[in-house]
Amino acid sequence: MPIQADANPRAYCRCAFPAVLNQCLWMAACLTLAILLAITTPAAQAELPDALPELGDASSSIISPQLERKIGRDFLKQINAGLPTIEDPLLKHYTLRHMTKLAQHSELDDKLLSVALIDSDQINAFAAPGGVIGINLGLMLAAEDVHEYSAVLAHELAHLSQRHFARGIEEQRSQALPNLAGLLAAVMIGALGGGEAGIAAISTAQAAAQANQLRYSRGREQEADRIGLNTLVNADMDPNAMGRMFERMQRQYRFSRRPPEFLLTHPLTESRIADARGQAQRYPSIAYDDSEEFHLMRVRAQVYYAQSPQNIAKQFRRTLRSEPNNRVAQYGLALALAEAGEATEALVIADQLFGNQPDLLLSVAAYADLLIKSEKIDQALRLLSHQLVLNPDNRPLAMLYADGLAKAEEYDQAQAVLARQSVVNANDADVWYNLAEVAGQAGDILAVHQARAEYFVLHGSYQRAIQHLEYARRLVRGKANQPELARLEQRIIDLRTRLRAARS
Ligand SMILES: [Zn+2]
Repeated sequence: MPIQADANPRAYCRCAFPAVLNQCLWMAACLTLAILLAITTPAAQAELPDALPELGDASSSIISPQLERKIGRDFLKQINAGLPTIEDPLLKHYTLRHMTKLAQHSELDDKLLSVALIDSDQINAFAAPGGVIGINLGLMLAAEDVHEYSAVLAHELAHLSQRHFARGIEEQRSQALPNLAGLLAAVMIGALGGGEAGIAAISTAQAAAQANQLRYSRGREQEADRIGLNTLVNADMDPNAMGRMFERMQRQYRFSRRPPEFLLTHPLTESRIADARGQAQRYPSIAYDDSEEFHLMRVRAQVYYAQSPQNIAKQFRRTLRSEPNNRVAQYGLALALAEAGEATEALVIADQLFGNQPDLLLSVAAYADLLIKSEKIDQALRLLSHQLVLNPDNRPLAMLYADGLAKAEEYDQAQAVLARQSVVNANDADVWYNLAEVAGQAGDILAVHQARAEYFVLHGSYQRAIQHLEYARRLVRGKANQPELARLEQRIIDLRTRLRAARS
């Protein structure tokens, strides 16, 4: 039976806002938040207080943490639907794990984060209410070590821990809350340099309020810099990294012929950089170790964005001529060679790099990934199945295993692995996408529609989700599978309720 509707659901979700990322910068985040705060802030407000309001105070009563989480969940759906995200299981795993570790050292009360890794080589990161952190993969390219990378993320965590969103709403008091999610999305689109509709949504009634944006964003930014720097220190990371990262961004855009909107309204001033430097000097000057894992993932990002694997392979070879033991360049070369179809040499390097690190998860995943890319599928599957016994449900290992199984045309097994992942990582749209793909290859059309329905739910596209569940219901109706039919009926009812709520 043919699969109905949305033969390629990603084509749907990826076409919504093409090329919106061309102009974005790191603190578009801050920009996102800053514009929102500016919109919602009366013109004559004084500088922001440093002290965080107590629970139960005005900001908590106007926008509760529960409402923030609801806005965050909706916002994540907007990100899924509107922005390209990275599917690479290793990069996703590293980013989420690193962010989770850093959050442990932040002032966040609720350290449960949702992290979206955006497919853009531009510098950007943003914080949204409800514990949502968005990170462009380009941030990893711009940072020269793990400390600089973490400095930007610690700054974003401070926006969350200081509840800048709620505090902005509190100062404004009259903003109609039900529109916030839509406004946030509109601002996000505007902040990322595309989407005239988004800009139009905020530019008329609030134009006067925007004139005051700079003042408030500076106050928020300074507070986020200061608290973020404390987070870095608590995490045993280099406090000087924040000043270094700011200077790098300032240098990068100083002579830009057409500076991004962000720099016009939100400059990285000398005083801001000096503040970050000055605060860091209060701590003892010690040498900090860098992280090999960070650099392995950074080189993976470099290969991902490389125009040609052959050219970037030449760069790594040049590095290796002067530094033959540079493991990061070795990994970069192996990846580039695998991409270029030169599997034999790639595997020799992979064996040397990872063959004697059987217990480091990221190394195992990196090795298995190179084996799959080099079409050594059987070897990859043996390695991954063994490691999954030791680390059941580990996301990158399971995703790679499913990928390998699909390449080996073991579609039923791949489907079983992804079905399990869809239980333990139910909010990962990539899991549902891949599950629908392998279910189709396995001939399980019911599972295709169910997986696509959940994929669309995570994009906030309830109408399409219901459509797929109705196709699924037709397949089950009249058969003996009554429990399945009851589950489908209930899910359709749930989603219709959500659809009505979203429309109202
Ligand atoms: Zn900021």
